[in-house]
Amino acid sequence: MALHVHKYGGTSVGTADKIQSVAQKLVDEKNKTGNDLVVVVSAMSGETNRMTDLAKQMQTAPSAKQMDVLLSTGEQVTISLLCMALEDLGQSAVSYTGSQVKIITDDSHTKARIEDIHTDKINADLATGNIVVVAGFQGITSEGAITTLGRGGSDTTAVALAAALKADECRIYTDVDGVYTTDPRVEPKARKLNKITFEEMLEMASLGSKILQIRSVEFAGKYNVPLRVLSTFVDGEGTLITYEDEEMEKALISGIAFNRDEAKVTLSGVPDMPGVASAILKPISEANIEIDMIVQNIAEDKTTDFTFTVHRNDYQKTMHILQNICTELGAKKVDGDDKIVKVSIVGVGMRSHAGIASQMFATLADEGINIRMISTSEIKISVVVDEKYLELAVRSLHESFGLSQE
Ligand code: ASP
Ligand code: MG
Repeated sequence: MALHVHKYGGTSVGTADKIQSVAQKLVDEKNKTGNDLVVVVSAMSGETNRMTDLAKQMQTAPSAKQMDVLLSTGEQVTISLLCMALEDLGQSAVSYTGSQVKIITDDSHTKARIEDIHTDKINADLATGNIVVVAGFQGITSEGAITTLGRGGSDTTAVALAAALKADECRIYTDVDGVYTTDPRVEPKARKLNKITFEEMLEMASLGSKILQIRSVEFAGKYNVPLRVLSTFVDGEGTLITYEDEEMEKALISGIAFNRDEAKVTLSGVPDMPGVASAILKPISEANIEIDMIVQNIAEDKTTDFTFTVHRNDYQKTMHILQNICTELGAKKVDGDDKIVKVSIVGVGMRSHAGIASQMFATLADEGINIRMISTSEIKISVVVDEKYLELAVRSLHESFGLSQE
């Protein structure tokens, strides 16, 4: 007998019917396996957005504290409904909000971090045969204020509970049947992965595959919680996110991630002297703009070119700040391009195989795709290319690295 934590997202509990089928699924699972089950649920789909809209009608900038009081109610609706549905099937069940469990968080409202979870009540309920249903996305500060964990935070609740309860597996039930080698909407030959490492998943997630809240993957990696993503609606084994094993190392790469909404800016003819990079980037970060890739050229004639990428939404603002810096530093000019994308190949296999980068570049060259920027890490190589090449780049790399075949 094992202890499993399940998490059902908003679309899995979006209607009364769907909540009833989740209840049936849980009862079947408990009868079949005898496992102890702790279930974390999201708000019914659309609810968190609906409440956010309501709040905006009250105040242009509602306080984070009140937003937490408001938004945490969405999950409270789902836990009670799911318990009713379970009881209707003859299964005893207990519901808990985050504050009832005592999921203790810090006080950063709307993006709180979990600090501690009390497990005594949950363990006692499991011991008497209950299914325990916990509201996702929320906690309470040590002073007693309600907090939420940021959008998508129920994933993190589930993983944190699994870690605290030393669960054998944390299963995230959602509307896709697993993690794919790339987005099937771009490459129909994309294939579901049976396994992926925590590290690879982090690279894939931060590059735009929006299946899991990134923080939940970090948490799972840190506390070694086997994490499985699978479909609520279709049977299957989903994708297991776990530690690296030999089989995973054998693969050259595991997936291709991409980011559409990128922009790049260049400050050229910058005097090459200490403090320049900081002089350029400090005002950008002070404006709360996140920087991704950074490239500085080797100086010729005591000047250098400095290029970096930002989110496309921050493009105008970044260009404006750079114009000012350009004058201050006596640099030559500012250029920018907001029609670029980032395409990355990801895989732990890269560590033990040489020639991955050159294969990537050759593949893109064969398609006539010009690479504008390159950056690498231990398990990832990213290139910036013109937006119009996104689909072609993803598909040709998918083919070239053998991801299309079994
Ligand atoms: N209900 C919250 C949201 O929509 C949390 C979650 O679903 O994970 O972001
Ligand atoms: Mg989600």
